[in-house]
Amino acid sequence: MSESRNVVIVTGIPGVGKTTVINTAVEICKQKHGEDVLVLNFGTEMFEVASKAGQVKNRDEMRKMPTSQQRDNQRLAGQAIAEKARKAKVIVDTHTLIQTNNGYLIGLPEWVVRAIQPKTVVLIEADSEKIAGRRSSDETRTRDSQAISDIQIHQEMCRAAAISVGTLTGATVRRIMNREGKVEEAAAELAQTLME
Ligand code: ATP
Ligand code: AMP
Ligand code: MG
Repeated sequence: MSESRNVVIVTGIPGVGKTTVINTAVEICKQKHGEDVLVLNFGTEMFEVASKAGQVKNRDEMRKMPTSQQRDNQRLAGQAIAEKARKAKVIVDTHTLIQTNNGYLIGLPEWVVRAIQPKTVVLIEADSEKIAGRRSSDETRTRDSQAISDIQIHQEMCRAAAISVGTLTGATVRRIMNREGKVEEAAAELAQTLME
């Protein structure tokens, strides 16, 4: 295995604050360390594939598609991400489990992570009630409604999925709490992982 891994995969359930924490961490790396970090969003890569094929009109429709189609698009997106990730410092913004109409689709199956070879998988977590609040107050997206108890279970299952990625690739697994109103704190932890 390579000793010079450069990719940090950032995961967590929808609305937990992945993209927000990533953007702040990238800013910290730039301002404090003069380091540029390339952010690759897995959903954006998949949306490019799905929209070109006329399958969807927005990114939140993708998880409603037949799972076989999602898996095909996921494979193509994974290849594109692995190709683009050959830079100095890279974050992949993605999910470990996607809630579909037929159960959870594994976001980081073996063939995706083997190509990416992450150095660390970061699992962003937050209080389940706060996640429900963040989802409902974010008008930029169409997020599924989920009972607080289901959000809790979804987060627990993501822990297992994140550990599986570590088991498959040898990546470290880091849990970061994104506390309400404390994006800077979570971002500082993520920046530390990026600069390690
Ligand atoms: P998705 O998986 O759907 O892309 P995400 O995990 O990337 O979701 P964001 O889009 O970053 O989540 O954040 C969801 C909402 O929560 C946004 O409106 C964002 O401003 C808000 N938010 C993020 N972090 C916090 C925080 N620590 N405190 C309060 N609000 C937050
Ligand atoms: P996001 O903006 O991170 O919520 O991503 C948008 C959508 O892309 C998600 O709701 C999923 O449908 C899809 N997606 C993101 N990452 C993955 C992945 N690793 N595997 C399968 N689908 C994904
Ligand atoms: Mg996001």
